[in-house]
Amino acid sequence: MKETRSTCPYCGVGCGVIIASQDGQITGVRGDPDHPANFGRLCTKGSTLHLTAAAPVTWQARLLQPQRRDERGQAPRVIGWEAALDEAANRFANIIDRNGPDAVGFYISGQLLTEDYYVFNKLAKGLIGTNNVDTNSRLCMSSAVAGYKQTLGADAPPSCYEDIDHADLIFIVGANTAYAHPILFRRIEDAKRANPNLKLIVADPRRTETAEIADLHLPLLPGTDVALFHGLLHLLMWEGHIDHAYVQAHTTGFDALKTVVRDYDPRRVAAVCGLDEAALAQAAQWFGEAGSVLSLYCQGLNQSSSGTAKNAALINLHLATGQIGRPGAGPFSLTGQPNAMGGREVGGLANLLSAHRDLANPEHRDEVARLWGVRDVPAAPGKTAVEMFEAAADGAIKALWISCTNPAQSLPDQRTVRRALERAEYVVVQEAYATTATCAYADLLLPASTWGEKEGTVTNSERRISRVRAAVPPAGQARPDWLAVVEFARRLEQRLPQRLAGRPTLFPYQGVEDIWNEHRETTRGRDLDITGLSYALLDRHGPQQWPCPASSEGEASTSAPPDERRSFGRARLYEDGVFPTPDGRARFVAIRHEALAEPRDARYPFSLTTGRLRDHWHGMSRTGTLGRLFGHVPEPAVQLNPGDMTRRGLKDGDLVYLTSRRGSVVVPAQASEQVAPAQAFLAMHWGEEFLSGCSSTGEPLTGVNALTTSAFCPTSKQPELKHAAIKVLKAELP
Ligand code: SF4
Repeated sequence: MKETRSTCPYCGVGCGVIIASQDGQITGVRGDPDHPANFGRLCTKGSTLHLTAAAPVTWQARLLQPQRRDERGQAPRVIGWEAALDEAANRFANIIDRNGPDAVGFYISGQLLTEDYYVFNKLAKGLIGTNNVDTNSRLCMSSAVAGYKQTLGADAPPSCYEDIDHADLIFIVGANTAYAHPILFRRIEDAKRANPNLKLIVADPRRTETAEIADLHLPLLPGTDVALFHGLLHLLMWEGHIDHAYVQAHTTGFDALKTVVRDYDPRRVAAVCGLDEAALAQAAQWFGEAGSVLSLYCQGLNQSSSGTAKNAALINLHLATGQIGRPGAGPFSLTGQPNAMGGREVGGLANLLSAHRDLANPEHRDEVARLWGVRDVPAAPGKTAVEMFEAAADGAIKALWISCTNPAQSLPDQRTVRRALERAEYVVVQEAYATTATCAYADLLLPASTWGEKEGTVTNSERRISRVRAAVPPAGQARPDWLAVVEFARRLEQRLPQRLAGRPTLFPYQGVEDIWNEHRETTRGRDLDITGLSYALLDRHGPQQWPCPASSEGEASTSAPPDERRSFGRARLYEDGVFPTPDGRARFVAIRHEALAEPRDARYPFSLTTGRLRDHWHGMSRTGTLGRLFGHVPEPAVQLNPGDMTRRGLKDGDLVYLTSRRGSVVVPAQASEQVAPAQAFLAMHWGEEFLSGCSSTGEPLTGVNALTTSAFCPTSKQPELKHAAIKVLKAELP
């Protein structure tokens, strides 16, 4: 029996796991007691990883060989890797020849490893010369990126998990940590047990399992977060809780914000947010009087048409009260996916470049072109997730390469997404699972190795980089994502020699560690400098937080005893009050509360919100292979307030049509006190086999994203997955 240290592939907590394997098969998994994200704990998803590794192969749910579809709608046939990659390179080259580089797009995933992300980014922006590379992380955290950059000057969460143990007040906003980050939630429960004075406030329209343990639940109306934060700041100002010394020494823009916030008096805010004035006052008092305040937030702020403003307004609160850069204090954005952070680090989004550089900055483009050895990095902005599929639906993008994600289920406004997949001339899907809805649209299917079979790194929510290691060989003919991309890129180089600027190849990698070494070099001197980190150091001393520059103890520290767990990176940022802005000061952002993109009205009188279940992950391609993970919630159901159920003559289990302006689904109704009147909750996971419906023009669709809107935040381009206006009608059976 062999044991291999690796990392859980599900959520942004980034728990360490120890994989047991024998004779090339994964036989068990347990939490890594030495990993600082989880200290040996695993949630239901993590603790069943070994079972979900075996089941898909048995059930023929794994994609085991490259397959080609001769005609859309037909079953694909098996072909060899060489033929598959030759064909992909020829088709992409032909489309680029005919239509230019912006006629192709790469839609990738926060499930990919940092090294995978790096080569995709270099392939698109370096070799092909298009910035059309974006990721499902756009659906998860791009508002947090934009919020941090607007206020603190860099996309760098300033806090760490240990801050949970030091906080006097934890303010959870738009995050159901009990389900989405279960091991962090257990740490919060522990902290509450250890410190009876620790207060927990949860602001969420639903009374979630997280809200259940709160000392104060603020059930704000969907989309009213900016008003809530401004209302709290108004009260903090009124009650004398502003840290004027901090504001004066370390920030700019407070006077402009004060002018805006003056309008957000408690009565008005209570009305806008649907909250009790006394509850608002209580929250402000606890915030103002706490020695240290830690805010944890996630999709409730991010997945919004004003997501960046919501992030900035929350960070305003921390800056105004000096609640940042100290143990237990800070605005801490939690990432949904296991490597959304790593993707940000290598610039794997349409508006970013390696090492947190900005595509819009000509100096940054030149730096990256020099590092990569290419003539230039194009200046034209790339298409972000929603835009990429809209462009494909319009015929502007003609070839799509989709890796490790299932846009035919997970992107909002499914009708447009599926039209895009149908209209694109050529669709490559690089996947571990043959069962995703997107596979049905692929002209070429490339089998990807998955958790337990891959090598590389991921970065969790607290900037901690962990190694991901292979315990067993890839199933069938599956290959690591980076390797398939590099072999495709080398073929494409022969068709695009002008982009090589005289180099024999831009992808000279012998192994995944070579990619890491190149990536870390691009970070030299940047805010996330990791030049002090090597695979050897991560192997010897365990996961590390960035920044960790070569000048720190990091790389040079070979004097430490082997296998000793040591930290070389920085746990907290901005402890000195200096921010990575031109003047070193953090910036208040004076924004106003904006209405939802699609408010409910007389025709669509319900607010639909989406979210996660405890035991499932994304589109269930992995968790859906295991019966026991259906024990908690066995089938889809829309949760409605009991009063709404009674008024509509509904009882538990009755089928209802949920209808938005874009489509309908049919689903059983379930009465739930967690949901306020005129609100509805439906989990995001249920796909093809579970939740069927159709578009408003009759095309078959599935899942909650038949209903959602593709409206997005103008700054972050993150879509408003957390809210759509719907109507609920009882489905009369014959
Ligand atoms: Fe995996 Fe997240 Fe659960 Fe940890 S909390 S075991 S990372 S799913």
